[in-house]
Order: sequence, then C-alpha cells, then structure tokens
Amino acid sequence: MEKYVYMFDEGNISMKDILGNKGANLSEMTNLKLNVPYGFIISSHLCKKYNSKKELTKTELNQIISSIKKIENKTNKQFGNKDNPLLLSVRSGSSVSMPGMMDTILNIGMNDDILSKMEDKRFGYDLYRRLIMMYSDVVKGYDKNKFEEIITKEKIRKNIKYDIDLDIDSLKNITFEFKKLYKMLSKSYFPQDPYEQLIESVKAVFNSWNNERAIFYRKMNNIDDSIGTAVNIQEMVYGNLNNDSLSGVIFSRNPINGSNELFGEYLINAQGEDIVSGARTPNKISLLKKKMPMIYDELYYYSKVLEKHYKDIQDIEFTVENKKLYILQTRNAKRTIDASIKVAVDLVEEKLITKKEAILRVNPNEMEHLLHNEFDKEDLKSVKVISTGLGASSGCASGRIYFDVKDAKKVSLLNEKCILVKKETTTEDIEGMKICEGLITQVGGITSHAAVVARSMGKPCVCSIENIKIDYNNKQLITGDNIKFNEGDYISIDGTNGIIYDRKIKTTNKKESEYLKKFMSYVDSSKKLKIYANSETITDTKNAIIYGCEGIGLVRTEHMFFDEKRIFNFRKMILSSNKEEINKALNDLLPYQKNDFKEIFKLINNKSVTIRLLDPPLHEFLPKDREEITKLALSLKININKLNDRIKSLKEVNPMMGHRGIRLSISYEDIVKMQIKAILESAIELTEESFSVKPNIMLPLVSDINEFIYIKNIIKEEANLIFKKYNKKIDYKIGTMIETVRAALLSSEIAKEADFYSFGTNDLTQFTYGISRDDSEFLKDYYEKGIFNNDPFKSLDIKGVGKLIKQAVKDARKVNKNIEIGICGEQGGDFNTICFCNENDFDYVSCSPYRILGARLSAAISEIQE
Ligand code: PEP
Ligand code: MG
Repeated sequence: MEKYVYMFDEGNISMKDILGNKGANLSEMTNLKLNVPYGFIISSHLCKKYNSKKELTKTELNQIISSIKKIENKTNKQFGNKDNPLLLSVRSGSSVSMPGMMDTILNIGMNDDILSKMEDKRFGYDLYRRLIMMYSDVVKGYDKNKFEEIITKEKIRKNIKYDIDLDIDSLKNITFEFKKLYKMLSKSYFPQDPYEQLIESVKAVFNSWNNERAIFYRKMNNIDDSIGTAVNIQEMVYGNLNNDSLSGVIFSRNPINGSNELFGEYLINAQGEDIVSGARTPNKISLLKKKMPMIYDELYYYSKVLEKHYKDIQDIEFTVENKKLYILQTRNAKRTIDASIKVAVDLVEEKLITKKEAILRVNPNEMEHLLHNEFDKEDLKSVKVISTGLGASSGCASGRIYFDVKDAKKVSLLNEKCILVKKETTTEDIEGMKICEGLITQVGGITSHAAVVARSMGKPCVCSIENIKIDYNNKQLITGDNIKFNEGDYISIDGTNGIIYDRKIKTTNKKESEYLKKFMSYVDSSKKLKIYANSETITDTKNAIIYGCEGIGLVRTEHMFFDEKRIFNFRKMILSSNKEEINKALNDLLPYQKNDFKEIFKLINNKSVTIRLLDPPLHEFLPKDREEITKLALSLKININKLNDRIKSLKEVNPMMGHRGIRLSISYEDIVKMQIKAILESAIELTEESFSVKPNIMLPLVSDINEFIYIKNIIKEEANLIFKKYNKKIDYKIGTMIETVRAALLSSEIAKEADFYSFGTNDLTQFTYGISRDDSEFLKDYYEKGIFNNDPFKSLDIKGVGKLIKQAVKDARKVNKNIEIGICGEQGGDFNTICFCNENDFDYVSCSPYRILGARLSAAISEIQE
C-alpha cells in the first residue's frame, strides 16, 4: 500500500516532489524546531489518483484519519470535541509555487456544538462564519459575493467599515444568515460532522488543481499539468483571538528593490486570509516593532535563520496567538527582477552562495524587464500626481484605464495599452494582469496574492490607494480632488514608488545599476557562447551595445529600404525594364546603404557585423494603392496599365517559397554588386579613419552549393574591383544562412565553401514543418488541445528541427574546422534554444537587442548546468 500521508516530522525538503513546496518547507521548519503548528501532508500522488477517479478509498481515508489522531496527541486537543476542540486548516501546495491559484479552507471542525460551549462567543461566531463562507466557496462552488453581500449589509446597518468592527451581535446575525443561505443553495444543513468537513475540503483542494485560474497560471508559466498538488493539514492557531493576536506576512528582504530589511505587513485580530485577499489594508511591519517589539525581534531572528537555511530571501506567513508567535509557512520569495539581481549579488558578497549559485537564482525570461522603462525626466515635469499608494511591483507604465478584465482583453486585442483598475486584487484577475501594462488597486497590501503575481510577471503595480474612489457602475476613477477619469482615459503609474499620474508619460531606458553590472560580470565569466544582436537601425544597435552584445549577427538589409525616399528608388529599380534604369536606381540607393553600414560599423567598432544580402520577395516592396502606383508610373514615364501588369507579374502564389533570398541575387546580380559596394567601400573608408571593421556577408535561403558558389564568385570579383579602386584590401567573410532542409542535409558540401553558418530557424522551422510562418495562427488549436506544448517559432523544436541542425553542425565541423556557427532566428533569444545551441558546439546566438541580457544569462546557466 502506497504511503500517501506524512506527518510534518517525517518529511524534508528533498521530498518536494510529493509533499509540495509548502509541505516540504513545513517539514523542514519542524525539523529545525521552529514553532510550527503540527500537522501532516497528503502527497501529490494522491491528488493525481483522486483526480483521475474522483474517489478516495477506505485505506486512503484511514491514513488521513489516523494522522489526525497524531495531531490530537501532540496538541492535547480533540477534533470534534466540544470541550477541547481541535480545528484544522486545509491548504494546497504543489512542488511549483502557484501563489493564490488554488484553494485554502480554515477553521475546519467548527460546528454548532463547539460554538455552544465556547466562552468567547464573538470569537466563536467569527470562526464559524469564516468556515461557512470558505466551505461554500471552495467545496460547494457557491458565489462568494452572495456571502459578501450579507456582510456588507450588516456593516451598513451598523455603520462600520471593517470586519474587525463587527460586534458579537453582528457576527451572530451573519453566521445565521450564512447558514440560511447555505441551506437554500445546497438544500441541506451546513455539515456538522468535522470529518465530513475535512474530507470534502481535501477533495476540493485536489479539484482546485484544475480550476480555471490554476490552469491559466500553469500555461503562462510552462508548468507541467500532471504534477498535482499536495494538501497540508495543520492545527489552527488563531490570529483572530483578540487584540494580542494577529496574522502577517514578512519577507526577509524587500522583494521589490532587494534591500536588506524586514519587509511585510500584519493585521491585528485577523486570520491570514484577510491579508492575502487584500480586503483590509494591513499595517506595515515597522509598526509591529513599536507595538510588540519582542515579537518583532523574534520574527526578525526567525527570518534570518530561515534565510541562512535556504540561502535565499524568504516569504514567511506567521500568526501571533495571544502574544505567542507561530510560523505557518515559508517559501523562497517571489520578487521583482531588480530585487532578484540585488539579492543574488548581496548573498554572494555575504558569502551565503557562490557566483554560480547566484546565476542560477535569476530567471532569464525576466531579464528583459530590467532595462525597459523609466519615465522620461523632462516629460515628468509637466504631469500631475493624482494619487499615491504602495509601490507593490516595480516599473513604469502608461495606458488607458479599464475596470473589467473582459474590457481590457478586448482593447488589448486592438494593441491598446491598458492599465487595470480594481477595488481589490483577486487572483481571478490573472488573465487581465497578463495583458495589461500595469495595475492599480484601491485596497490590499503588498503581499496580497495579486501583488505577488504582478511582481512575478514584471508588471508595475500600485496598491492601497486610499484617496480614490472606483465606481464600477459608471466605469470611473474619481480622485480625492473629484477629478473623474473615464474608462479609456490615459493614466501613468510608477510601481516602484507608488505614484499615479494624470496622463500618458514618455518612457526612456533605465540605466544599468551597479548590481546588474556586477551580476553580469559573474554571468560573462561563466559563459562560452557569444551573444550577438539582430539589428539594422542605429537605435537598436545602440541598445544592443548597452545590453552587452558581442557583435551583430544579422543585419536585415531589406529593412533599410522601407524609408519613404528609399522605397521609391527601390520600386523604381525593380520595376525598371532595362539595365540602364536599374543601375541608375541602384546608384541612387548606394549612398544610403553605404551610410547605414558606416553608422553600424562605427558603433560596433572592433566586433563583427553580419550583413545579409536582400532576402524578401520583391512584391513586398510594390505599391498597393492607386495613388502610389500613379506616382510611380509618372516618375518612370510609363503607362499605368503597363505598370499594373508588371506588378501583377511579380505577384506570387507562395511568396514564402518563392523568389526570395539567394534566388533574388541570382536574378538581380546588380543588387548584389550594389550591396557589396556599400559594405566594402564603407568598411575601407572607416579603416582609413582607424576603425576596425569586420564585415561578414551572408547569403540567405540557400539550398544548393552551386547557388552559393555562383554568388560567392560575384562577391569576390566585385570586392577585387573595390580593393583595386581604393588600393587597399580588408578581410571579410562570406557565409550562408541554413534555412532550407536541403541546405541542412547537404551541410558537408556547403561548409567547404562557407566561412560561417547562421541557422535561420524561422525559415528552417517553416520548411521542416511545412507550416507557413505567415499562416500559423491555427496552431492555437494545437496548444488548446494539448497537441503542441510550445510554439516552434518561439522555442526551437529540438526533436525535429534540432535533429536536422545537430547533424548539419557535425557535418560542417568535419569538413571545415574553423567554420563559425550561430543562430539568428527568433528562437535565438529563448532559454531552451540557447541551451541547445550551447550543448551543440555553437559559437554564438543572435537575438533582438532587448533579449540580450537574458541570452547572456541563459548561456551562463546552460554552461553551469552542463
Ligand atoms: C530566419 O529565417 O530565421 C531569419 C532570421 O530570417 P528572416 O526571419 O528574415 O526570414
Ligand atoms: Mg529567413
């Protein structure tokens, strides 16, 4: 018989897979002899089993019930005994942290009998009404709002603001109304048998693994659906017993900026759910230092013990019952990427972890949030602060306000940026949080579930904004000065400092902090793979340099022709009917190209720049509207019908598989010559100005060695002419992209002729799957139906496309030891793809500038893990 239940003192952190994070940590803390209320963990294996059959066997139930006896022995209380009642909490907890996504039920075991014997009736009713509401919500799935309405009515009747002010009479009324509502909804009385309450709650937590928001969260974070959740059952301690009792959450360091200070909040006379749900704005932990200094010191001590033990910043839930401190939970804290970096560096300097461990602590996918935005200092001078609150998740954002997730989703489909405005954050808003630029909430603290999730998503968040009103009915945000903002109006938020501004504000890139510099120095000394950038503009190249690129891996030259003036000349060139006109148009384009390359070479001085010859199908450059066509016909001095015929003749049925890449070069040799002139002349001229220029010329969409050799010869001939003209030679390389299956299969032929390879995995994926890059929308059905887990256009399909690449690399290295190998498709910035490239002897990956920091980190992680 499989063992499904483990008492806290039977487990440890290595059993995380079956006990879940929370359970394994409760075991670990029990072993450390911290003051943890006793309990047991039901393993995630039982969750998997239960969720497939939807039943618990007698032996499984017996394991649970006999474990309750063990809690009774340890606590000297009895489950269901009205004279000395033991109440229990039931909490979810999988091996991957999913804050707030699954369910919790507190005060299990409470019933009429126990209440009748309790001396402190206010406390008794408070426990009972909480249980009925949570049970109704989690076990029965009844609408929580119906219960909230009863509380709100009572508060209005008594003219009070917070639950804590409800007196015994009110709590009695509420409990009575709750029971009535329960009876009406379920057609039966609220269950009085504590064991029934418990078992139904355990089943509900198992079921909550598959609730909508948990599924969404797992999808978003690539978490395996099959792992299931463990269930933690623990003796209740009561933060709501009296005014010497409280519940709170602390972080051993600040999870927003990483500073080494106790950070967190608490609520007097409350249970933990009051804090995480964000229903009441809690007190800052610094107040506890004044009010209960002994408890504060004890808490600080525990936080450091736990931080040393786990060698990481801890997020700790605690309760004080009648001046006695209990630790209910600890976990590695979710934090902003800024805090991640600072804490990693600090822990290295405090000698708690090594540099390599520090590298493994930071998520490469979050790195792009690091340098993204800060409000422009000039623009900030002219805006008005409309309110302030708690900065709950760092970063700056502007957007139109929306009060409802559905509305926000609609406008985000139209590429509108939106800020979600909510009275309080609940994890049900998770889909809205994913698509918004940032969010604000009227109440709720920095440790509310939603603030925690916002931090892990890298979304700016301001909460606990006391002087605003949110009117959901009229979809309005009303400030303290009675200024009204309607749905769709712009505001800006600064989640680092907790400030809300009255309009859109320009953003600029944030400067690299000293901590980031230090962290990236650990990263760079641990990685082998070089990181290049895909860039063809000055701005992108400047950014790429700031983010630490070691070269440019792809200049898409066609992007340089989209400018209005240039496109006109380019159109003239492709629509010309004779060589003379073509050459004239190309001559007009040459100075632009030359200048563009010069700018990039100058900026990137001393590092290699890989320039790809023209790639896309020509029709992408053709005019589509009448006015443009007429203008072009006039300038070319040809009849408009003739021009239309020419445009028609250039149209292709399958442009992605058509006249593009090296095939264009073969048809339009003069374009190649113009581009070579622009590259080599600008390089020579800069060399004369003492720049060090390392141009690589790259031929796209090759599928046959003869194509490659044909164009290579043209390039060489043209280069020799240029060298003669300048009476100067420079080094340059000629390489190819591997983008077709045939090129990959014939790698041992092509590598003999090529100085370098760059795997163009956008096209290689397209051609390997036979799925057009431009028409891959239908893949969403594949993700939904679980046929594909990942988009192969985002993360390399290692099994198929990867197999092709592996063999091509091996074959190439066999015939050309010195060939440089890299990747420049979109996948080049993705963690798993980078690991694949590192493991398969690549020299570099090239990705868009904003992904460079993450790529550097991914390369280091891959090297360390290897
Ligand atoms: C590729 O195909 O991977 C590539 C980088 O080229 P493009 O996306 O421009 O076709
Ligand atoms: Mg391509």
